[in-house]
Amino acid sequence: MTTATLDQANTCKILTGGNWTDSKATRFGEVTNSSTGETIARVPLCGADEADRVIRTAHEAFESWSETPAPERARYMFKYLENLRGAQDELARLMSREHGKTFGESQASIQRGIEMVEYACGLPALLMGETIENIARGVDSETQRHPLGVCVGITPFNFPAMVPLWMFPIALVCGNTFVLKPSEKVPLSGMRVVELLQDAGLPPGVISLLHGDKECVDAMLNHPLVRAISFVGSTPIAEYIYRTGTAAGKRVQSAGGAKNHIFIMPDAILDRTIEALVGSAFGCAGERCMAGPLALPVGDVADEVVERLTEAAAKLKTGPTDRESNATMGPLISKEHQKSVLGYIDKGEAEGAKLTLDGRKVSVPEAPGGYYVGPTVFDAVKPNMTIAQEEVFGPVLAVVRIKSLEEGIRLTQESPYGNGAVIYTQSGRAAREFKRRAGAGMIGINVGVPAPMAWFPFTGWSRSFFGDLHIQAKEGMLFYTQQKMTMSRWFKSTDGTLGSWGI
Ligand code: NAD
Repeated sequence: MTTATLDQANTCKILTGGNWTDSKATRFGEVTNSSTGETIARVPLCGADEADRVIRTAHEAFESWSETPAPERARYMFKYLENLRGAQDELARLMSREHGKTFGESQASIQRGIEMVEYACGLPALLMGETIENIARGVDSETQRHPLGVCVGITPFNFPAMVPLWMFPIALVCGNTFVLKPSEKVPLSGMRVVELLQDAGLPPGVISLLHGDKECVDAMLNHPLVRAISFVGSTPIAEYIYRTGTAAGKRVQSAGGAKNHIFIMPDAILDRTIEALVGSAFGCAGERCMAGPLALPVGDVADEVVERLTEAAAKLKTGPTDRESNATMGPLISKEHQKSVLGYIDKGEAEGAKLTLDGRKVSVPEAPGGYYVGPTVFDAVKPNMTIAQEEVFGPVLAVVRIKSLEEGIRLTQESPYGNGAVIYTQSGRAAREFKRRAGAGMIGINVGVPAPMAWFPFTGWSRSFFGDLHIQAKEGMLFYTQQKMTMSRWFKSTDGTLGSWGI
């Protein structure tokens, strides 16, 4: 972390008008090292007045930025790429400390974010309009894409760099100015990602950063100068953001929570499948909206799947990620979240599911105070149990044994969520049927975490997404621009003679 973004008491600053400045907030939150529970910084919880000032400054920057040619805007992204790549290790270490991902997981998530910037570098090609010459006699018609104005991004704790990078590189190259409000649980990584962009020489006010909770978010949602809102977080808040933002006349794309199904067909190659299931359920300690917390073996492969899954999950090493360690799974984000995940394990047991691996007993003596829950596997889970229905967002894998793929497809269609659904099989026919009919927007065929790369949209369905145009890729560009259609007709001179140019 550089000193520009923190004051001497380690209080996070806000970014406005190109300067990192002290917030005027009177309320503060604590940022902790998830591996130890120690406080590492204070985050101001900005009020409505501060949000208003920052948004107005972003609005002032809009005119000149939107007049900057698109290739020039994209050129800042080339420089930003260099900055991100140069700081990738440092940023990953910061994220691992603040959030609790392993170093490798932090690295991988930053890489995904870097790919978003790569995508934004080529965005001017996508901004081209369309034209039909002579659509009526003597009339030409064309479309052009225009930026909207001030766009805002409100992001969750679980991907502190990647999710902001889903948003502002595209929004900025489209010609908008952008105000980011990172999760108040992981503001340091968000600030560093924005600082590296500011270091690319971006004009003042083009990118801004606010900190806060509901008060700040509400001010952003209702601000008359905000034109579009990108949100990623839990489903209840995603729905609230969508309803509030659209009622205030804004464009909104709002991605929510998930509960993704992973099917294992009897013909799946089990060695690879078990490895992928463990990665999908326990990677990032289960704190991923594309995680696979529900494993559904089809038919008589179930006994072997449960046995091998339990054995493989037991080999994971839960431990601190704020230092060199042999941990393959880190802590959760906070004490409250740890309590919530432990509560779900208690509930699974109480509702009659069978624990084959109990993460409540994990011990991490080298980092007491961290928010650890060990890998947990439940067998004999019924589809109506709480652990099969609700998003636990922790290292808890529920195995639901089913008789047929048809039964499984129905479960995906009936699920309130619709982010991901995955099938492990060698049968092209089963895979095709699944791809066509599963009730989710992102399908994995022998791919455990089918989170799209930058070139494809993040197509959540049902209560995993509220809005029309998804985040990332071409849909992102469509979201951050508005079209203008022009019809033109050029008359001959009124006296019927040829003009002075001979036409
Ligand atoms: P969250 O909903 O608690 O917070 C997300 C953001 O909303 C934060 O910036 C927070 O400050 C703000 N916020 C929280 N409560 C608010 C309120 N009452 N009013 C206004 N704003 C509020 O989510 P989280 O716990 O930070 O993140 C985890 C969730 O995000 C999980 O549900 C996960 O599935 C989801 N997620 C979804 C995707 C996706 O693409 N669908 C990606 C990543 C995470």
